Amino acid sequence: MDDLIPLSALQHYVFCPRQCAYIHIERLWQDNYFSAQGKQLHERVHGTEAEQRGNCRTERGVAVSSERYGLVGNLDLLEMYTKPFMLVPVEYKRGKPKVTDCDRVQVCAQALCLEEMRNVKINRAALWYWQPRRREWVELDETIRQKTLDTIRATRVLLNQGKLPKAVYIPGCKPCSFFETCNPKKRDSSTKYVKGLFTYEEAA
Ligand code: SF4
Repeated sequence: MDDLIPLSALQHYVFCPRQCAYIHIERLWQDNYFSAQGKQLHERVHGTEAEQRGNCRTERGVAVSSERYGLVGNLDLLEMYTKPFMLVPVEYKRGKPKVTDCDRVQVCAQALCLEEMRNVKINRAALWYWQPRRREWVELDETIRQKTLDTIRATRVLLNQGKLPKAVYIPGCKPCSFFETCNPKKRDSSTKYVKGLFTYEEAA
């Protein structure tokens, strides 16, 4: 696949490669309470006009892309500060900060696009979480940049292969909108059951 990778696919991949494949290979989308709420939040953010507050101008729903990394997507919010000049991409999330780096990778990839498009260096990005109503700063250091580049590579491999990876039960399965379709617990236990049969036969 030589197509551009949607920025959201990177977030989905870090959260769960199977979820990424459902959405970006199988083109399936299933809303549940959480995803519908998330969609509503994004519509509300994108529907707001650009504004100027002090030395900061904000724009919403800003389209970005990267030829270098093969990415495309939209920023929820771009903050443009003067004195000192600084660009800060901000991503809005429905829930609370996650254990994995999925949201940090997404916002770092947004910064990579902006750096290429505007020929600037971006040191910080931000995530705004609706549940605790709190902003979390993301320092764009080498560690998160490397993780983002690794995720871009891995996501490209997955999308090129065009196959649904095996289901592995994770804590994120419970609120996942694909839970019913995917049924990761059942798959896990049936795999264990089949494995158990072979172990039994080998031992016999
Ligand atoms: S239910 Fe779990 S394994 Fe299945 S797609 Fe969702 S997060 Fe991934």
